[in-house]
Amino acid sequence: MSQASSPGATATTVGAPALLHPLPSYLQADKLGPWGNYLQQVDRVIPHLGSLARWAETLKRPKRILIVDVPIHMDDGTVAHFEGYRVQHNVSRGPGKGGVRFHQDVTLSEVMALSAWMSIKNAAVNVPYGGAKGGIRVDPKKLSRGELERMTRRYTSEIGIIIGPNKDIPAPDVNTNEQIMAWMMDTYSMNTGSTATGVVTGKPVDLGGSLGRREATGRGVFTVGAEAARHIDLDIATARVAVQGFGNVGGVAGKLFAEAGARIVAVQDHGGTIYREAGLDVPSLLKHVAETGSVAGFAQAEKIDDDKFWEVDCEILIPAALEQQITRDNAGRIKARMIIEGANGPTTPEADDILQERNVLVLPDVIANAGGVTVSYFEWVQDFSSFFWDEAEINARLVRIMKEAFAGVWQVAQDHKVSLRTATFIVACKRILHTRELRGLYP
Ligand code: NAD
Repeated sequence: MSQASSPGATATTVGAPALLHPLPSYLQADKLGPWGNYLQQVDRVIPHLGSLARWAETLKRPKRILIVDVPIHMDDGTVAHFEGYRVQHNVSRGPGKGGVRFHQDVTLSEVMALSAWMSIKNAAVNVPYGGAKGGIRVDPKKLSRGELERMTRRYTSEIGIIIGPNKDIPAPDVNTNEQIMAWMMDTYSMNTGSTATGVVTGKPVDLGGSLGRREATGRGVFTVGAEAARHIDLDIATARVAVQGFGNVGGVAGKLFAEAGARIVAVQDHGGTIYREAGLDVPSLLKHVAETGSVAGFAQAEKIDDDKFWEVDCEILIPAALEQQITRDNAGRIKARMIIEGANGPTTPEADDILQERNVLVLPDVIANAGGVTVSYFEWVQDFSSFFWDEAEINARLVRIMKEAFAGVWQVAQDHKVSLRTATFIVACKRILHTRELRGLYP
C-alpha cells in the first residue's frame, strides 16, 4: 500500500480508485470506504463550481475529528470499552449538525462521510448549519437498558467539549432514538449546569422535542418522491414500491406511499426479506416490527432470499437502511424506474453510473432524506424561543422547504445536464464555498 502524505501529492494505490487530491496521513487509500465515495462525488462537482473551485479542498478535509474511548461498567461486573467518534466536517454556514449512530460496523471513514453528507444536505435545503456526525462502534441490541444509558452518557460527556447548542447539535440516526437524545440532553445539561434543550434534536416532545420530527425524514422522502414522479409521469397511486430498512425512515415513507395508494410489495430489514405481490398491509407490518423488532416472520407475506430483493418488480425502490447497498453487483438488476435514497450513501458511484445509463432516476440522499434535519432545525429554533408550533404548521413548512429545494435541484440538473446528485452537490457546494470565501481564512 502506498499513501500520499506530502501536500499536493496524489494518492494512488494499485486496485484503489484514482483520486484527484492528497489524502491526510490518517487515511489509507485502499481503505477509504464511504469517505472514498464522498470524495468521488466531490470530484464530479468541481468542474461546475467556477471560481469557487479554489476553495474546494476544504470539502475534502473534515474540520475536526474527535475519537473517544467510552468505558462503562457492564451488568456482569466487567468493564467494557467502546470506540466513539464525533466528526465536524464543515461549520462555515453555522454550527455542526448531524446524527449519532450506534452500530457494530461504525468506522472513522463512515462517520467522516456521513458528516460530509450532512454539510451538503444542510446547504441543499438551506438550513443554517454545517455538517457533523457521531457514532459508537457497538451493537446496542446486545446491551441492557442500563448499559445503553451508561454508554450514551459517557459518550456524551466525552464529546461534550465540542458539542453545544451553538457549536454542534447531535440527533438520532441508526439505532438511536428519542430516549437516547433525552439522556444526551440530560448529560450535557448536568455537565454545563443548566438545562440545554437545544444541544440535541429528535428529543421527546415533553423535553423540548418538535411535533412531526419522528416522521419528518420519511415525510420528506415521500414529498420529493411525489414531486419527481410528476416529472417522469409515474403515477404513485398505482406504483409498486420496495423498501429496504423499515425503521424510522423506511417505515414512515412506506406508510405514506401506501396511504397515497401505492402497493408496498417488498420490504427487507436486518432480519430478512418479505414479499407480497398484492401489497403488504403496512399498518399491520409496522405493528409486527414494533412487537418483534423485524419484518421477518410477518404472516401475511412470503419470505424471499435477501439477494432477490434487488430484482423485485417495482416502479419505486427506497433504500432506507445503510450505505453501500446498491453496488455494481446489483445495480444492473434493479427494475425500478425511480430510486429514492432514504438512507445516507446507499449507492456507490459505480452503481450511480450504471443506473444513469439504464435511465433509472436516482433521488439522492442529500436532498431526499433532508426532511429530518429540516424539522430538527425547526426543533432547535423552537427550543431557543421556547415557543412551540403545532404539527400542521411544521408539516406545511417542511413540505414547502422540500418542494422548493427539490425544484431548484431539478432545474440545475436540467441546466447542467448532470444527475440529480451532482446537481444537489452543485447547489450545496456553491453555498458552502461562498460562505467560506465571504468569511475568509482565519487569522
Ligand atoms: P433505524 O434504526 O430506525 O432503522 C434502520 C433499518 O435498517 C431497520 O429496519 C434495520 O433492520 C435495517 N437494517 C439494518 N441493517 C440492515 C441490513 N444489513 N440489511 C437490510 N436492512 C438493514 O434507522 P433510521 O433512522 O431509519 O435510518 C435509516 C437510514 O436513514 C440511515 O442511513 C440513516 O443515516 C438515514 N437517515 C436517517 C434520518 C433520521 O431522521 N432518522 C435522517 C436522514 C437519514
